[in-house]
Formats: sequence, structure tokens, C-alpha cells
Amino acid sequence: MHLKSPIADLKGFGPKSAEKFQKLDIYTIEDLLLYYPFRYEDFKSKSVFELADGEKAVITGTVVTPANVQYYGFKRNRLSFKIKQGEAVIAISFFNQPYLADKIELGQDVAVFGKWDQAKSALTGMKLLAQVEDDMQPVYRVAQGISQSALVKAIKAAFDAGAVSWLEENLPQVLLDKYRLLSRSQAAAAMHFPKDLAEYKQALRRIKFEELFYFQMNLQALKAENKSESNGLAMAFDDKEINEKIEALPFPLTVAQKRSLDEILADMKSGAHMNRLLQGDVGSGKTVIASLAMYAAYTAGYQSALMVPTEILAEQHFESLTQLFPDLSIAILTSGMKTAAKKAALAAIADGSVDMIVGTHALIQDAVLYHKLGLVITDEQHRFGVNQRRVFREKGENPDVLMMTATPIPRTLAITAFGEMDVSIIDEMPAGRKPIVTRWVKHQQLETVLNWVKKELAKDSQVYVISPLIEESEALDLKNAVALHEELSAYFDGVATVALMHGRMKNEEKDQIMQDFKDKKTQVLVSTTVIEVGVNVPNATVMIIMDADRFGLSQLHQLRGRVGRGHKQSYCVLVANPKTDSGKERMKAMCDTTDGFVLAEADLKMRGSGEIFGTRQSGIPEFQVADIVEDYPILEEARRLAAEIVSDKNWQEDQRWAPIVKNLKERGDFD
Ligand code: ADP
Ligand code: MG
Repeated sequence: MHLKSPIADLKGFGPKSAEKFQKLDIYTIEDLLLYYPFRYEDFKSKSVFELADGEKAVITGTVVTPANVQYYGFKRNRLSFKIKQGEAVIAISFFNQPYLADKIELGQDVAVFGKWDQAKSALTGMKLLAQVEDDMQPVYRVAQGISQSALVKAIKAAFDAGAVSWLEENLPQVLLDKYRLLSRSQAAAAMHFPKDLAEYKQALRRIKFEELFYFQMNLQALKAENKSESNGLAMAFDDKEINEKIEALPFPLTVAQKRSLDEILADMKSGAHMNRLLQGDVGSGKTVIASLAMYAAYTAGYQSALMVPTEILAEQHFESLTQLFPDLSIAILTSGMKTAAKKAALAAIADGSVDMIVGTHALIQDAVLYHKLGLVITDEQHRFGVNQRRVFREKGENPDVLMMTATPIPRTLAITAFGEMDVSIIDEMPAGRKPIVTRWVKHQQLETVLNWVKKELAKDSQVYVISPLIEESEALDLKNAVALHEELSAYFDGVATVALMHGRMKNEEKDQIMQDFKDKKTQVLVSTTVIEVGVNVPNATVMIIMDADRFGLSQLHQLRGRVGRGHKQSYCVLVANPKTDSGKERMKAMCDTTDGFVLAEADLKMRGSGEIFGTRQSGIPEFQVADIVEDYPILEEARRLAAEIVSDKNWQEDQRWAPIVKNLKERGDFD
């Protein structure tokens, strides 16, 4: 027998049971050894005073009455005795296990696992434990037809055959020494049959490390391969000119902005292809950094393009770029443009007389021909797909790519979800910002809130009101928004003009409504969540979110980011009567912090990594034992280590790393 033998070869197992084990993806002895328990029954003893009625737990005590077995009916019996724990006396009964009587001795300490009956101060025993010490019982995921005990039996049989020592070490010795890790077979043994908690923890640490390290080795090796092709542009830009531009800004860059810019510029300078994500909360100053990167491309003699999701955002960016770089030739390109203007823009882009281009999806349409396009930046877009990259290649361009997002993605997730990309994070707000004041009120207090809003309106402020979200029903969302708009129009009659915006409107219509709001033609804007992305109205200082508990934390945070963009103090009011604990927690979290990264972490903890930002589709891997949130420190160390290893071009020839190369090949991750 060997590791790859079918489990039917195990003593006491045949083809029939082997077939059942296939449901758990267990085919071979090796599969069985690596099928770890997902948790352990905690057999640490508890005080009876901590127990809730019906709770299953271990209690310990001294036997104070002799064991007594009562028989009633055919093969049915009850063993009973009493133990004393401190001052408490507890009645213990075991059903149909008369042989346990031999193990109960007066005056002896015992530990019993069972179900607590509060009213009777009694425990129905399920298991008599040998030792009073901590005991741990592995719990495996099972499938129909395979019980816990069948699994344990199979694993025991494999261990009896000595199989665990056949597991080959797959981590290099230098790493085992460096991190003081158990060997692979020691760890496997301790996962199934831990001597104690300490040994189990050591085993767990080793296996988590192995999982996360190989995950990172894969990513980093892939990344290194991409880079070594040196298929990107090496832009020779002028540092002096860039520094002068930075000096000329009306403010100093934050440390995080500088760091991000340096990372981006280093990518652009190198011959490797840039594929970078720039993350930063709304208002953290991403756009400035993007603009400086575009400027760097310009000084190197390349065009650059900034792609945004809406026309109004394109105009916003066009204005700010023109202001920042008055000497450059900047073009705007959107699908809504007049034909003549569009033609002129296209011609200027193609002949290279334009230095920078801002636009919507129109930027990747057939008609657009670039002239030495060196850099493409996308704003507020989750991913710049492989296809879009191909579009540029087909146009004969091979630009560096920078994606900007204001969705704060916890570092933990960014490393995994965007593993193939480099990530720069602006995790610091420019000095002097007034944090948005957030309050949570109940529906009953809405009248008070609206009264206060009247006063804010009198101070020339503007107000957003987000209408409630009805899950999966756009029609009802609309109805809500319309009703809310009517009510508020009546309420603010003579005080303010109330506008309405929703998802059923055409883009031009929405843009017009936003423009009117920006121009202060309207003062209150009732909207569904279509408002979410990117628009800048610095004079709007109040955000009211109706039924706020229906929204997720990241969405609430995005909505709140629509205010706090000017010099005046801004406010966010959450109107909600949450029915669930998690709803209440979300409201509290919003009031406690305005830091998007803190909220994203909180969101991650509350919902688990599987749900956040729809990550299930985004290809975040699931691990057998590691947890990317909890085990983040290990993940980061694994990443650092993997990057260091692949940074040597000849790492695959390095004898130290031979076990890694072998293992990656065996997994088929590598050829
Ligand atoms: P983002 O794109 O991340 O939402 P922006 O780049 O639009 O942020 O910056 C928001 C506002 O803050 C802009 O008015 C910008 O001029 C200003 N700003 C950017 N960086 C700084 C800084 N370091 N100090 C002060 N103000 C800044
Ligand atoms: Mg922006």
C-alpha cells in the first residue's frame, strides 16, 4: 500500500465504502490523510453555573455516590451517579451504557460530556472522558452514508498502516527552520489526533502556512512571468518637470499620495507592463495622482487617456485637468458629443496634437485611433477587463493600465482578489478635512430631522435624500422614490425645490438633473441609489438615507461620500428602525467611523469574505483551513516570502527551492 492506493485497500474497507467516500472527494489514502477536521468539539470543562439549559458541554467533578444501574425492559437501562463540583451536586445519567459502571469510583475525579438539564440540575451523559484534562475531539465534514465514526475509523486504519509517515515534505527545510514549522507528517498526525491544544495549534499554523504560501507562490510566479516578458513601455519621463508640477499644486501631497505616485511612476518607467489598482476613499486625492501620472506620460512623449463611467464625470475631470495643465492640449470624447466636435477631437487624437484624452466608453470604440498611447486610467470602474486591454492592442497600442476605485477593499481581500495586480492604497485623507457628522435616527424622529433640514437649507446648503431600497424590485424602488418626492415637495413648498432622479431615467435626463442640482437650480435631490457613483457637488452638505438598514455598509459609505466635499460641515442622517442585530451594528459602525477601510473590514467580519462585494464571482479562492481575514498576518508573510523567492530570475534552479518547484509541478499549476 502507498499514498496513491485506493482507500478500498485499507483494512476493513471495501469498494462499497470507498464509493461513498468519493462524495467527499476522498479517493486515495493520501486524500484521506489530508482530509482535516473542520473543527474540534471543545471538551474543556465548564462550571455548571455557566451552562444554559440544553447546552452540550463537559463538566468535571468528584464522584459522591456509587454508580447504580437500573434495567427496565429489553436491553434498556440507566446508569446513574452524582458528582460534586464545588458546592454543586449534579445528577449524571447514562442510558444503555451499563459497562461504564466499572469506571466510576467513589471519590474519583471524572469528566463527563453531556446535555445539561437546568430544571433538574442533571446531566445526560453522552461520553465519559478518560482524563479531566482538556480533551479535543475532531469533527469532520461528512456526507450522506458516511458517519463521523466511519471517517475516524478509516483515518485510524490509515494511521495504523503507517501511512502518515509516507507524506512527503513539500516545504523547503530552510523555511521549516525559519518559521519553526512542524513537518508535513507531524502536522497531519496532530490535525487528526492532537495530543493537546498546543500541538493542534502548531499543526494548524503549519498547514495554514502551506496553503497560503502555495497560493501566493502561484500568483507571484505568474506575475513575475508577465513582467519578465518586458512587453510594456519603458517611459523615459522627466522627473524634474513632474516635481515642479507637484510643487506648483496648491497643497502638499499626503504621504500616502506620494507613496502611491512613486509606485505608479516606477511601473511606468520600467519596461514591464503596469497593471495597478489605485485604491482610496472618496476625496482622498486619487484624481490628482492620476493626473500627475498622465503628466509623466506627457513628458515622456506619450498620450494618456482617462476613462470614466458617465458624461458628467468626464466633464468634471476634463475641467480639472484643463485647470491643472493649462499649457497642454486636452480632448474630451463622449458618445453624446455633436458630430463635428467629435470629428475634430478624433482627428486631433489620431495625429498626436492632443496630449491627454478624457472620456466615457467612447474611448474604446473603433473610430478612435491613438497616437503613442502610453497610459490608460479608468476611474470608478471595478475592473478593466482583459477584453478592453485587447481593444487597445488591436489599435496597435500597448499602454500601461491604472485602475482607480473608491470602493475600499480591505487589504486582506485586495491581496487575494487582485492578486494578479499590484495595489497602491491611499489610506490617508488630506489634512484639514472636517469629518462628516453621522447620526442614526428612528422614523418617529423624521419630523425633527426635516425641521433641522429647513434650517440648513436657509444657510444655502443642499440636501440629498436617498429613497429606500426594495430588494430585487426596481418597480417598487421607483414607486418609493416618487412617493417620497411628492411628500417632500409638499413639505418644502416655498422653501426649496425638490428634484427626483431614478434608474429608469435616460442618461441625458439624469445628467440634466445633476447639472441643475450643481447649478443650485434645485436644492433637494430625492434619488434612488443611482446617485452613488462619483458626482461632485461641494455645496451639498446633507445626506439623508431612508431605511438605511436595508443597505450594506459599503453602499452606505459610498452614499455618504457624496457629501463632505466642500469647506462647510457636512452631515449624514440614517433613518432606520432596524429589526436585526446586524442592521443595528451597521448603523452604529457608520456613526462610529468615516474611515472606509475600517468599515470595509467591519463589513468583512460581519458578512464573511464570501459575501462581500460579490467576491464569490471575483475568484477569491477558498481554503481548506486558512481564513483570509483571520490569518491575514500569515497571508502577508507568505506573499512577501513568495515575492522574494521569485524576484531571483533563476529561482527554479536554486536547490533550496527544489521542493517548491516539484510541488507546483505536481499540482499542475506550473509546467
Ligand atoms: P478622489 O479622486 O480620491 O475622490 P480628488 O483627487 O478628487 O479625490 O480630491 C478631492 C479634493 O481634494 C480635490 O478638490 C483635490 O484638489 C483635493 N486634494 C487632493 N489632494 C489633496 C491634498 N494632499 N491636500 C489637500 N487637498 C487635496
Ligand atoms: Mg474621483
